[in-house]
Parts: sequence; C-alpha cells; structure tokens
Amino acid sequence: MVGLYIHIPFCLRKCFYCSFKTTTLLSDYSNKKNDKEKKVKQYLKALRNELGKYKGKVLRSIYIGGGTPTVLSSFQIESLFQFCFNNFSFKKNIEITVEANPGTLNRQKLKSLKKGGVNRLSIGLQTFDDRLLKSIGRIHTEKQFLDNFYLARKLGFDNINVDLIFALPGQRMCDWEKTLKKIINIKPEHVSLYSLSIDCGTRMYSDLKSGKIKACDEDLEADMYEYAIKILTEKGYQHYEISNFALPYKSSKHNQVYWDNRQYLGIGAGAVSFLHGIRSTNVEDIDEYIDKVNTDEVCLKKEKLAGKKSIAEKIILGLRMRKGIKVSKQIEKNFEGTIEKLVHRGLLERKKKKMRLTYKGLLLANQVFIEFL
Ligand code: SF4
Repeated sequence: MVGLYIHIPFCLRKCFYCSFKTTTLLSDYSNKKNDKEKKVKQYLKALRNELGKYKGKVLRSIYIGGGTPTVLSSFQIESLFQFCFNNFSFKKNIEITVEANPGTLNRQKLKSLKKGGVNRLSIGLQTFDDRLLKSIGRIHTEKQFLDNFYLARKLGFDNINVDLIFALPGQRMCDWEKTLKKIINIKPEHVSLYSLSIDCGTRMYSDLKSGKIKACDEDLEADMYEYAIKILTEKGYQHYEISNFALPYKSSKHNQVYWDNRQYLGIGAGAVSFLHGIRSTNVEDIDEYIDKVNTDEVCLKKEKLAGKKSIAEKIILGLRMRKGIKVSKQIEKNFEGTIEKLVHRGLLERKKKKMRLTYKGLLLANQVFIEFL
C-alpha cells in the first residue's frame, strides 16, 4: 500500500517568494492561450503514462499538489480522478487531498473535485491581509479566500486545511495576531504554518539584496511562532507536527506517510518516490518530463537509503512529530552521543524509550536535524 502524490507544476502567476519550478500560465509559453493549453494537455497525458506504470497498486492516500492544481479545468480534474479510479485500488476511507488557491476556484471546479472523491481541501491563504498578500505577489484577496472557503463548506467539504506564512517583510505582530484570530473564527479543521524563507533566485531575494524590503527580525519570527502555538492549542487544535495543527482526528493522513517513513509514489515533474528503500526523483523540467516519461531517463536520480543515513532520515522525519519517536537499539547504537548532546543543550527531551523535541528544540529544529546528518 502506498501514498500517491501527483504534481501539477502550473500556476497563474509567480508569487514573489516562490522558489518552486513552476510554469506560470499568465506569462510563459509566448503568452498564446493555445500554447499554454497545449502544454497543460501534454503534461496531463504524460502524467497518465507515468501513472499507468503503477497500475493495480493499492493507495492509502492521494495528494494532488503543485503549483496550483486548481488551474486545471473541471474536465481535466475529473478525467485525472477517473484515470486513478480505473487503474488503482483504494484503501477504505482513503484521504484524497487537493491543493487549491483562491483566485482559481469556482463553484464548477469545487463540484468537480467533490465528484472526483476529494474529501480534503488545502487552501493557500498565507495571510489575512490584502496589503501583505499584494506585497508577496499572491493573486487573491482576503475576500476571495473567504468566498471560496464558504462555498466549499456549502458544497460539503468538511475537512479543510488553510496554509499560512508568517515572518513576512513588513508583517507586524499585530498583523499576525489578526490573521490567526480570523482563522480561528472560520474554524478550518487543519492549519499549516511556515515561516517565510527567502531563497536565492526569487524576486523577493533580489528585493532583499537591493534593500527594497527588509527581512523579518529573528526574535519577532520566534514570537510569532510561539503565539501561533499558544492561541491555536488554546482553541482546541492539536499541535501534532512542527508546522501543523489539527482539530481532533483531522491530522493529515497523507503527510503522515512521509513522517512515518512509509512508501509513497510521486508522479510528475520533480516528484519524489520512496519505494522498497529506494528514493527516486523525476526530472524537474516540464518539457523534459514530457519527453522522457516513457523512458528510464525520466528518473533523474536514485538513491538506496541504508545504514546510518537511513536511520538518520527516520529520526529527522519522526522528530517532526510532537509525539516524537521510539529510541530503538539501532538509534542508540548509532546516535547515543548526539542524543545526549542535544538533551544537554535542552533541544531534545528523553523519557525512557522515547525522545522528542523540546519547546526550544521546536524553534531550533533545523539545528537538531543537522546534528543527525
Ligand atoms: S501558488 Fe505556490 S507554487 Fe504557485 S507560484 Fe505561488 S507559491 Fe509558488
């Protein structure tokens, strides 16, 4: 049984902080509508070819992410699901998630998602503040998000995640508080929050280098994260993973596949699979993916995870969960010294046969993970 991830690398426009390799339908492919439509169709055909190679597998979860999967037309969305239904078996109560961005959703598309069996929506809001949304290049407004959210509710979506980003340039603590209070008011079942990372090659990185914008202060960033943990847990959300909060029984089953180091199949340009201890990554360029999908060259790299590296991987993924992980004999043998050092620094707590990040460790999780690598 595997978790299936399908990657849709198209967006309407590039957000200023985005470092993903996506094709922006409003500006790439010489601006000709036909060229863009052709490219999307070719890509979807390539996806079906790749999916066909795994025909018959039993799926425990499906996650369609991107990019912006909801730039696809209703017909394209329904056909993709139909293809999955025809070629795979589904575990009972399978979780089927689609990432959706406000500005690309409407009644028709939401109905197609519902018809396709989608039972979990993940909506990219990022912040409840039109000024900040504009400053980071998002295509939508607060009102568009709310209209989409309530429409989804009306159409029966009862498991919705909302993605948020904090530590944005120019974002004050009071702005972040406002966003979280509004989130609590609309009560999504799940909230994911990430602090902004300004990566090389993005428009935001150039703006930072030229002094046009200023990065958020590190102390403020930590305060924002702590405030989010406090207010969301007070309101009944379980902080079950570093960046994820869920109402009871609403944690993400698909992401759990990754954190538990279970098998998953990644389909599409740049997608990553982990099957039988081997991690493989597809070529990232869309044209190259379309050209090579029927050959072995579609796989850019393959890596057998074994020995100490594979144990470190398991630890890092497991420590992301607030419940932590069991310290097996194998872990003890390979990392006893590292664990002791991290406990001493107050970043890890160890109780009998279990260990997990401390509160301080949550804020400095990357430092902890580096120690295991
Ligand atoms: S919607 Fe997401 S993937 Fe698309 S450009 Fe914005 S951040 Fe990148």
